[in-house]
Amino acid sequence: MNIVTVVGAGLAGSECAWQLAEQGFAVRLVEMRPARTTAAHQTGLFAELVCSNSLRSGDVANAVGTLKQELLACDSLIVRLAHQHRVPAGGAVAVDRLSFAQAVTHAICSHPRIEVVQEHLDAIPKARPCVLATGPLTSDALASDLSRVLGSDNLHYYDAIAPIVAADSIDWDIVFKQSRYDRSDRQSEEDAQAYVNCPLDRTQYETFVSALQQADRVRPHAFEQSQFFEGCLPIEEMAQRGPMTLAFGPMKPVGLMNPRTHERPYAVVQLRLENREKTAYNIVGFQTRLTRPEQNRVFRMIPGLENAEFLRWGAIHRNTFVDAPAVLDETLQLRALDGVFLAGQITGVEGYVESCACGLLCARLLVDRLNGRIPCLPPETTTMGGLLRYLSQSRKPFQPSNITWAHVPPLEGRFKKHEKKAALAARALRDIEVWRDAQR
Ligand SMILES: Cc1cc2nc3c(=O)[nH]c(=O)nc-3n(C[C@H](O)[C@H](O)[C@H](O)COP(=O)(O)OP(=O)(O)OC[C@H]3O[C@@H](n4cnc5c(N)ncnc54)[C@H](O)[C@@H]3O)c2cc1C
Repeated sequence: MNIVTVVGAGLAGSECAWQLAEQGFAVRLVEMRPARTTAAHQTGLFAELVCSNSLRSGDVANAVGTLKQELLACDSLIVRLAHQHRVPAGGAVAVDRLSFAQAVTHAICSHPRIEVVQEHLDAIPKARPCVLATGPLTSDALASDLSRVLGSDNLHYYDAIAPIVAADSIDWDIVFKQSRYDRSDRQSEEDAQAYVNCPLDRTQYETFVSALQQADRVRPHAFEQSQFFEGCLPIEEMAQRGPMTLAFGPMKPVGLMNPRTHERPYAVVQLRLENREKTAYNIVGFQTRLTRPEQNRVFRMIPGLENAEFLRWGAIHRNTFVDAPAVLDETLQLRALDGVFLAGQITGVEGYVESCACGLLCARLLVDRLNGRIPCLPPETTTMGGLLRYLSQSRKPFQPSNITWAHVPPLEGRFKKHEKKAALAARALRDIEVWRDAQR
């Protein structure tokens, strides 16, 4: 019986190991934490969410909502446990990050076919098959071994993470709780309470944007100069693009009404509940590379956060990913090394759910191989199929991507605009079940 080595017990590696084990294969899961850690992880737990606690929309009209439903249909460990450890977040699937990661760790460590090994791998393992799921913060030694094998195709660039503030340090006489487009038929009272809004008038907004534009940033190293991922731009980068960019972006007041003034604020800074205990909130969309003293100065200009206790500061981070269309085949195997597969963000998918999906796909396609079958790819009409298609067919220069409906082929036939996404979701969910059943 083959033993599969999986390196990295993050979102992708944990899902991948679980799927392989559930299909009857023995797995050796190698994780370097906690003995050796990364710049973002804070625990030794598996599937630690390093920034936001949100797995984004739960609505199937949204591609990532459908991706989660497809994952559930395929017995995903990560998405199942995410639902079990949900905290209120309106239409989003947000989790209590600690209890979620503890549950994943427990499930993996107690699986009879998974052996967990705590070790830092400084090179691609000799044992085959193996799956590298070492994520955006792959250790330097392993990244350079990978780059030796792949040539100079390995690419590094930097994203930024948002600060977290203590609930009891917020000025509750200024802020107000409200979810955008509050609709009692769709949201429970608890959901509406999950978002806190710091209202700004025009003068406060303009002063804040000007401070952001002028604030000191952490200077990137020469090799960090490359572009940011457009879906995760630092707040100061957005401010730099124009005085109104934030008012139409993360600070948009749309769907909100200040109950004290009965008016829509000129702009808002939104805070989202971070944990079940309701002791912490993250600042939505405020990923940043400002220096800490500047974060301390500028973010206190936000009405309601003048005396905030910052439990975590924003920071910059590395993102390691390969040029997937060039180096991976359609089953996520390295073209240059038989038996070596990649999974998760290192392939160029972006985001928690996408990384988990990539781990599940890698495992399922590997199971086909190990059972002597030709790997059966999920249909392109599914969001999982769309992710794989993006990795293998994306145009140059390759850029990491979240899942969007643009990744699946358009519908045949005519649909009214508002029916389109529901029809795409229905098609995807029907087709993923066919694929799943064909694998059994
Ligand atoms: C700072 C930061 C903030 C982010 N914010 C968000 C966000 O808000 N929302 C979102 O959707 N995505 C976010 N991302 C992207 C997020 O990291 C990925 O979506 C997801 O965690 C990737 O899953 P993964 O399994 O590929 O990698 P990870 O979850 O990072 O798992 C990789 C694992 O491999 C281990 N490892 C690394 N190298 C070695 C080695 N040589 N030997 C052994 N083990 C090793 C690591 O310790 C880690 O446990 C962020 C990423 C970073 C770095």
